[in-house]
Amino acid sequence: MNNQVKIKASNKSIIFNYIRHNPKTFKAELAEITGLTFVAVKNIVSELLELNLIVEDGTKKSETGRKSMAYKVNHEYAYTMGVHISALVIKTAVLDMCGHIVYKQSIPMTSEADSQLALIDSLYRQIEDTIVKSKVDKNKICGIGIGVPGPLNFETGMIYQPPNIPSLAFLPLKSIIEKQFSYPTYVDKDANVIALGEYWAGSAKGYSSTVYIDADLGIGSGIVYDGKIFHGENDGAGEIGHMTIDINGPHCNCGSFGCLETIASGLALVRNVNDALSRNTKSNMQDAYIKKGHIDINALIEAANNDDPLAVVTLSKSASNLGIAIGSLINLMDPQVIVVGGLLSYSYKPYVSIAKEMADRKKLQSYTNNQVVASGLAEDAGLIGASQMVLNDFFEPHLNLKSN
Ligand SMILES: [Zn+2]
Repeated sequence: MNNQVKIKASNKSIIFNYIRHNPKTFKAELAEITGLTFVAVKNIVSELLELNLIVEDGTKKSETGRKSMAYKVNHEYAYTMGVHISALVIKTAVLDMCGHIVYKQSIPMTSEADSQLALIDSLYRQIEDTIVKSKVDKNKICGIGIGVPGPLNFETGMIYQPPNIPSLAFLPLKSIIEKQFSYPTYVDKDANVIALGEYWAGSAKGYSSTVYIDADLGIGSGIVYDGKIFHGENDGAGEIGHMTIDINGPHCNCGSFGCLETIASGLALVRNVNDALSRNTKSNMQDAYIKKGHIDINALIEAANNDDPLAVVTLSKSASNLGIAIGSLINLMDPQVIVVGGLLSYSYKPYVSIAKEMADRKKLQSYTNNQVVASGLAEDAGLIGASQMVLNDFFEPHLNLKSN
């Protein structure tokens, strides 16, 4: 490819990706955003229309008051399969080219969590069933994206030993799925995939640098920089759960002490609240604790939502410790937006605002533009991000089908 052809291919890619991100885009807007001439934009748009990658999207009034034709991605051009595996459920969905969910399924993990064969079998059946029920032509699916708890090697798709799902240990997930379904398959850490989902369609839409923090049974994060997942040297970027908050704090399963995860994760909260109840701390959870001998995360959240003082203090402390970590993260990376998601943030309403308030106190006061916001996609973020992993790779060769 000579330089001129390379520049043209890159302009095409910039324009196409802008339209992907911004439906109802018109040519004058594209010229303004890219700095290209109107004629150059017009030629590229014609080419994208010819390739059937974009379609007309009605007319839109420009700033001058003139009506112009708007464009969007052709959502039927191809489809993707998104998969999100967590310790509790396996979610699968068929999504269209715009990242909209056509059909989704969510099946609880039961025996699969302990047996690798049962997990593989159930995953195969669920993917197959989701494709059938979506009524999308199998041949129009262009790839499978999978978000899964790490640690893992995202290039080979080999999972190492995720602490909460023993049956995933040393599973070559990418190669077994490619062998079974013959679709190109992409595997990445769940928090990375969710971050990508938030970047494309959620609370981080319109920002180029974002960190997603998953405040769930464990605590993890994913970083998207310039529209791409940032993996780091050992594919380990984003392990905010192991940021030290209290050097004299509890022992962590990573070998260190006082990591954020030992203080603020759902598992740590359950441990702390059961300890407190065993010492007869006053709480509305005492009856249930005596009856069952144990309080789980859902009972803790429910109690907090009913203003039980022990539960409220437990969740508020978690949010404020998370805020301390977010403050450090802002000082280190200065990202445009930090999105907080995960069970703790969805189910206890004050969670994100407590974390934000603490982060605002802890970050350098000269940093005024960093947003701390709640997830905009909640439970679908992983599926949408998984689909985008496939699309990011799929479009480039399709953009250059015509040699010029
Ligand atoms: Zn740790």
